[in-house]
Amino acid sequence: MPTHITLVQGDITEQDVEAVVNAANSSLMGGGGVDGAIHRKGGPEIVAECRRLRAERYGSGLPTGAAVATTAGRLTARWVIHTVGPVWSGQEDRSELLASCHRESLRAARELGARTIAFPAISTGVYRWPLDDAARIALRTLRAEGEGFAEVRLVLFGQRSYDTFRAAL
Ligand code: ADP
Repeated sequence: MPTHITLVQGDITEQDVEAVVNAANSSLMGGGGVDGAIHRKGGPEIVAECRRLRAERYGSGLPTGAAVATTAGRLTARWVIHTVGPVWSGQEDRSELLASCHRESLRAARELGARTIAFPAISTGVYRWPLDDAARIALRTLRAEGEGFAEVRLVLFGQRSYDTFRAAL
């Protein structure tokens, strides 16, 4: 069965899926963009669990390309899967790390038994990854690794992101 990938233009915090992916930073303590929106709307339970994860498993932070799940607090979703995207570099090819974010997030969701998952466009905000290249990497990885999910959704914020992902799909 091919992976069922859907694209929507919207806000990641408003998705009726079991797991939503957070474009986090390695501190897991919150930030701007997707991260800020998830913590604002999900409430303090999420950061409390992140703090425990830092204390117990990730003393020096969640590594780039890795993913870890917490409660989703007050969001509609059941879980937030935090992943740390690579910062874009013109000198060094970090594509494998961006692919790893998608792969590891799917793995974490699968371990929880989630059947539906929504991703933002990881690394394309503050981390400056060019949208068309990020779209290709995300779609290729989700298509190859998303087997078994009822739905793998990409949530694009704004028309330009949506159009770029649509063209890549
Ligand atoms: P990163 O640090 O990985 O670049 P950002 O959160 O800065 O992560 O941005 C990732 C992408 O998510 C950008 O394309 C940004 O426009 C988009 N974005 C920002 N807020 C939201 C939101 N609430 N829902 C979905 N996408 C969002």
